[in-house]
Amino acid sequence: MVWDLSQLVESEEPEFLIKKLEYMISDAEVFRNRYYGNIQDFNAKELLELLEYQDWFYLKFEGVTLYCQLLYSADSTNRFAKRLNNIVNNTSVKVKESLAFLENDIGKLISKNPTLVSDPMLSEYKHYLERINRRQPHMLSEKLERLTIIKDRNGIRAWQMLQGDWLSTRTFNIEIDGEVKTLPYGEIIGLYEDSNRDLRKQANQVVYENLGNDEIIWASAIRAICGDHLRMCKLRKYPEPITQSLIANDVDWQAINSLMNTIENNVALYQRYMRLKAKLMGITKLANYDIAAPLLIEEKYSWRQSREEVTQAYTDFDGEVGDWVDEMYEARHIDGEVRKGKRSGAFCSRWLAGKSAYVLQSFNEKIGDVYTQAHELGHAIHAYLGSRAQKPSNNQIGSCIAECGSIFGELLLTEHLLKKVKTKKEKQVVLVNLLDEFGTAVFQVSARFFFEQSMYDSIERGEFLDGETIANLWTSARDKIYYDTVDWLEVMKWEWTMKVHYYIANYRFYNYPYVFAYLFVFALYRAYKKEGKTFVPKMKKFLASGSSKSPYELGLELGLDINDERFWEKGMKQAEEFIDLLEEISQ
Ligand SMILES: [Zn+2]
Repeated sequence: MVWDLSQLVESEEPEFLIKKLEYMISDAEVFRNRYYGNIQDFNAKELLELLEYQDWFYLKFEGVTLYCQLLYSADSTNRFAKRLNNIVNNTSVKVKESLAFLENDIGKLISKNPTLVSDPMLSEYKHYLERINRRQPHMLSEKLERLTIIKDRNGIRAWQMLQGDWLSTRTFNIEIDGEVKTLPYGEIIGLYEDSNRDLRKQANQVVYENLGNDEIIWASAIRAICGDHLRMCKLRKYPEPITQSLIANDVDWQAINSLMNTIENNVALYQRYMRLKAKLMGITKLANYDIAAPLLIEEKYSWRQSREEVTQAYTDFDGEVGDWVDEMYEARHIDGEVRKGKRSGAFCSRWLAGKSAYVLQSFNEKIGDVYTQAHELGHAIHAYLGSRAQKPSNNQIGSCIAECGSIFGELLLTEHLLKKVKTKKEKQVVLVNLLDEFGTAVFQVSARFFFEQSMYDSIERGEFLDGETIANLWTSARDKIYYDTVDWLEVMKWEWTMKVHYYIANYRFYNYPYVFAYLFVFALYRAYKKEGKTFVPKMKKFLASGSSKSPYELGLELGLDINDERFWEKGMKQAEEFIDLLEEISQ
């Protein structure tokens, strides 16, 4: 249950690790001296050499940087890990500074000589260069880019920090078993999914009431952040507030517009699920604190059982994939132990040089933890395939595609568990677990997208965004999705105040890639169910493509057109089948 990080480095001796990080800084300087100011007239062969050199540089230092970061994630109370993490952060800032010119200069080169992008010699870097080409027209001069970093440090980033500091320093009083307890934010939000309904209600009430009391701060922050974004869009020549995000995610508006239209056309499906869940919980109507609530007392899963179920789920899909999943356990690349100082949540880090990955989670023997394991191992399979087939530069996968292997893995686990579990109750738990995730990622997250859009529309109309105005936009977007299926506590109108992504510096429209990924994968799963084993090599090729192609091209290779609403409808159809099944077994 504890991972083995020693494989990442030649030696775990502190002196060795620190020395290697020092080399990273000096090697980046060598890299800079070799290419700074020399790129403007490069031919295809010279550009290829540069790109391969960049990949080589990445692989050379990947192990040591990953080692330091993972060591710290696993135990932030370890003083040595803390120190190393600090050194690796400083190192990466210095390296970034040294190499910051690269993208700008490559961008200038290919905008001067666009034929380079499709030069056969550079075929493996084609899409990498296309993406730089798309960003290039929006880059500012080096002087202005620096100025932007300086003004953000005390501007947007200060708002972001304030929000983070507020959440991490406030405490909340809540009565548990007749005793008033004072809990920090990180702990009280754990009660949102408690099996005790009254506790869930209280936790929501106390947190959002407190957030609402400071609405004046949050409204000021949101106004400043949105206003700054609109100014920067003008300066960087983005036609719409969402353009920057579309470019970062390697997608076009047409695809996202089709996706969001499909959501609007299918809200009744989600509302049907909300009513069904209320029935399963034995209540007439859900309250907001029931949406993500667990349905029944859950079966416990040991680590060994979890390994067996997850490996079997992937093996049922494909033997090779199943072997790779098992190898992740066997090679001790998964850290599941629950310990103090460990980072919360779960993640998977690619280790390209080792053609593998590392997974971190806190395994508490719940069915949700088995799902998290299947999810993170889906990321690992994505990394196994991508690192074998692609250059390191083609492993910078945008958020729309990055979640596809992992969500597909969750569906494989669902299929496996549905076959395996015996009782009606167990089947309900499996399906509700899946549909809760789907509903949140697809519908609830879409409400956040509609909300964000409506704020920019409101500014456009010349309205002033004070706390109440923003709260109104929030509840309208929310009600568009839930209609009358959920009773909301009055204080839930302040929910937007704690959503970290509305405060992230220079990144708006954070949300829709999750909607994209879930619905995309549900549509893929439907294709798998229809085509059977002939679908397997297609799926493996898709995951092996990394970021060497755009999501649109990847879809076409699978015979699917993401610009067409009919494609997204297939994902909805798959969700509907799961809801039908849940209703059928619950009669
Ligand atoms: Zn994920």
